[in-house]
Amino acid sequence: MDLVRHVPDSVPVLVAGGGPVGLATAVELAYQGVECLVVEPREQVSWLRPRAKTTSARSMELLRRWGLAETLRARAPLAVSWSDQAVFVDSLLGREITRIGGCFGLDLVGSDLAAESGQQAPQPLVEEVLREAVGAALLTGRRVTGLREDADGVTVRIASPDGAEQEVRARYVVGCDGPRSVTRAAIGSRYEGRQDARPNYNIVFRAPGLAERMPHGPAVHYWVLNPEQPGMVGRLDLKETWWCIAQGVREQDADPVRLVRNLAGADIEVEILATDPWTARMLLADRYASRRVFLAGDAAHQNPPYGGHGFNTGIGDAVNLGWKLAAVLRGWAPEALLATYERERRPIAADTIETAAANMSTLAPELADPALMGPDEEFERVRPAVAEAVRRTKDREFHSLDLVLGYTYAGSPIVAPGCGERLPHRWLTPGESLYDRLGPAFSLVGDRGAPGADVLVAEARELGVPLRVVDLPGEPLALVRPDQHVAWRAGHPSGALRMALGHA
Ligand SMILES: Cc1cc2nc3c(=O)[nH]c(=O)nc-3n(C[C@H](O)[C@H](O)[C@H](O)COP(=O)(O)OP(=O)(O)OC[C@H]3O[C@@H](n4cnc5c(N)ncnc54)[C@H](O)[C@@H]3O)c2cc1C
Repeated sequence: MDLVRHVPDSVPVLVAGGGPVGLATAVELAYQGVECLVVEPREQVSWLRPRAKTTSARSMELLRRWGLAETLRARAPLAVSWSDQAVFVDSLLGREITRIGGCFGLDLVGSDLAAESGQQAPQPLVEEVLREAVGAALLTGRRVTGLREDADGVTVRIASPDGAEQEVRARYVVGCDGPRSVTRAAIGSRYEGRQDARPNYNIVFRAPGLAERMPHGPAVHYWVLNPEQPGMVGRLDLKETWWCIAQGVREQDADPVRLVRNLAGADIEVEILATDPWTARMLLADRYASRRVFLAGDAAHQNPPYGGHGFNTGIGDAVNLGWKLAAVLRGWAPEALLATYERERRPIAADTIETAAANMSTLAPELADPALMGPDEEFERVRPAVAEAVRRTKDREFHSLDLVLGYTYAGSPIVAPGCGERLPHRWLTPGESLYDRLGPAFSLVGDRGAPGADVLVAEARELGVPLRVVDLPGEPLALVRPDQHVAWRAGHPSGALRMALGHA
């Protein structure tokens, strides 16, 4: 640990917590030219607690915007071309019941729908790539123990492992300190919601030779529908490391080797590397912010992991809040802009929680059928009904582009009526998305010669806001926000940029 690391007395933005969302917030701030300090207790990422494996197509588009998508893909142990399948089986070494393809937007490579497909990558890898991008702004080995907000800023107390405390002054604080957020408590915000009754037990294990023996081929998820031991399994790499979630297993009752062997359907060779008990929660903070302190990621919302939305929703928070903080700190926007963060992001978290809770209502234990474990004749008799139940109940978990790519900020006070959606991506030349031409701040996309373009360019100059003009002759104009959502389209442009920045 770097005990002698100099900690600044003041910083424009202090980010409490360097999980994926805190790191993404720091990357967005740097992308917008704003300095920050991320305070994170963990020296290293947690390789044996991989949790998220699904980085959504939208998060990948945002990583592309930061120049990090290729890095993540290059280092991901499962290439996107490896599989987009979820296979439902009676055991890993047993019989296939059915399968679902095109999962998690993994099939969107080269698609007209998205500039990036989804990518399977263990959460610690995502964090490592983001840590590298954040660089010296990440201060590990320290934790935030409290904060005090006043009219001009926030005084943040930071503790070292030896208990020594120091204070850092920040204009704004972003609380990305997860479920037990000190920041959330400090602003008097409270989680509202519920917890699932069922315990879950994650295992990371090595199983030499298992992949070679499995008859089901590549898949990102194997769902084992054995009523004696239902669960989900997947590969962490293409060597010997696997993850599994055994549903309904309490920590005190768990025999991890037995669990893995039951899921495999044979007494395979297995080495347990780590276990991680957890409970699904459906929680939403009743408020996301005070005047100068904001919550993002799991500190603000928690949802069951089914569908792979948790940190992906947090990346959306990070980008939405990051550009707005930068706009205020760089003097383009009034502080009132910051109030739109909660207004725009909280409803999306609420929708995501309900979607993920609905996904959780039918899992492997509910789909499992004792007849699936019988002789082939009996298995074949029930297979069509179970396959139909899988198709009926699981489609939304694996195919949710309406939520992942389709969320909008319609109705927000900083988007014009009828706007707020993500600018549709399209390929301009092979491999070059329209997104690649956008600027880090605002962009004016469409016919530069169209009436109104000059008005917006002049307005940007007057406000001192960088505006990238993407000239697409013959196309209607759109004013695109830094987060690639459309603030305004065609019509009378006077005041559009002022509106998009929250000027009265
Ligand atoms: C089994 C499982 C599978 C999942 N799969 C997916 C998936 O496929 N896709 C997906 O998007 N999500 C998934 N999730 C959810 C995902 O793991 C979380 O949503 C994600 O970790 C939230 O990121 P975060 O940065 O907001 O919070 P966290 O990851 O909780 O990070 C908070 C950080 O704050 C630090 N911290 C805590 N207290 C303090 C303090 N006082 N001061 C400073 N720092 C502090 C912690 O050390 C930590 O690094 C899954 C979760 C589980 C349990």
